[in-house]
Amino acid sequence: MDLDSLYQEVILDHYKHPLHKGLSEEKTIQVHHVNPSCGDEITLNLLLEANMVADISWDGVGCSISQASTSIMSDLLIGKSISEAFSILDEFSGLMQSKGGSKGNEEVLEDAVALAGVSKFPARIKCALLGWMAFKDAASQGMSDEASNKQGEENG
Ligand code: ZN
Repeated sequence: MDLDSLYQEVILDHYKHPLHKGLSEEKTIQVHHVNPSCGDEITLNLLLEANMVADISWDGVGCSISQASTSIMSDLLIGKSISEAFSILDEFSGLMQSKGGSKGNEEVLEDAVALAGVSKFPARIKCALLGWMAFKDAASQGMSDEASNKQGEENG
């Protein structure tokens, strides 16, 4: 089996058996992101605890790339610190911008390297990034919420 078909298998497996799909009630923040060019939609619940990504749960519809990428992202980022999660996200964004020139760092990206081939198809990059951008948005909002909550506690 060559690398391309192995990667196809990884993507299909995440698409058919998505991880962390199904919204959990425990969340710091919820975001909804759409990719109108393909019709992909993701709702993502993020639970932050002490600067850690305590949980990610999501629901969505769309193409196999968007759904598989969100499954891979959620499994990869849960349990990481927010700063680690953002550096993984940067690594993945870099891979998506590589126009097929990068295979991706498997030690950092794990299953997400299976999406490396997507970077050759500009129309599909937004599909692959949808869940990751939803996470970025949720984490940014969640951190400012946590900061203002803390301020409230200190003042009260
Ligand atoms: Zn798509």
